Amino acid sequence: MLLKTNNLTMIYDQGKEKVQALTNIDIDIAKGSFTFIVGKSGSGKTTLLHNLAGLLPPTKGAVLMDNQSIYDLSDSKRAKNRRKNVGFIFQFFNLFPELTVNENIRIMTKINKIKTDEAYFNEIVGFLELDDLLKKYPSTLSGGQQQRVAVARALIHKPMIVFADEPTGNLDQETSYDIVELLEKVQKEFNQTIVLVTHDLDLVKHGNRVITLRDGFIINDEDTKKKIQKGL
Ligand code: ADP
Ligand code: MG
Repeated sequence: MLLKTNNLTMIYDQGKEKVQALTNIDIDIAKGSFTFIVGKSGSGKTTLLHNLAGLLPPTKGAVLMDNQSIYDLSDSKRAKNRRKNVGFIFQFFNLFPELTVNENIRIMTKINKIKTDEAYFNEIVGFLELDDLLKKYPSTLSGGQQQRVAVARALIHKPMIVFADEPTGNLDQETSYDIVELLEKVQKEFNQTIVLVTHDLDLVKHGNRVITLRDGFIINDEDTKKKIQKGL
């Protein structure tokens, strides 16, 4: 199994106030799948994504990435593991303003101290239609263009899994659909495993699995087609 949780529970503990953000989460993510995590604001989606990505140690339970319990690793090994195996796409793109598109995309191979696979770079850039933007700076791009750059950046080091947290939350509807359609193509073309968090149920048709959270519990986890048949 590519990614798996065992009885994961997350409690934010800030002195007097405790928030149980996730309770007894058991999921496994198969290679090449496109999973949507949906639920209302505050249901625990971002927390789960951060737990899964190796960014936030859960209070209880384990996260296994490629059969390795990532929170049993030292902080530096876990960070290294994350840089290598994970690609991340954010709501606000998080591109480096002082770097060109070309440099922004290559940052993940640079950080990993590996050579960029130039054939793969060209393939991704062509696929995401970024050829004409390579020399530009992020501030000169539209939101949709910036997010396409962020998608390329999340793919360039060939991570085991790509996480996206509300990647369309800052885009208009049409651009949102374009980005998610593109991610579906990326999943199919490169057999890239993707886990995407959204509250927009219109988008889930592009994936093959929908996990629904409510108040930190998984209340539904099924094949997209079945989920759509039953009504979202
Ligand atoms: P979502 O992404 O679905 O909106 P979150 O994972 O951000 O949900 O939040 C889940 C719950 O955890 C919410 O009740 C939220 O207020 C709480 N929460 C999130 N982050 C923190 C934090 N750093 N400290 C305390 N509580 C938090
Ligand atoms: Mg969130």
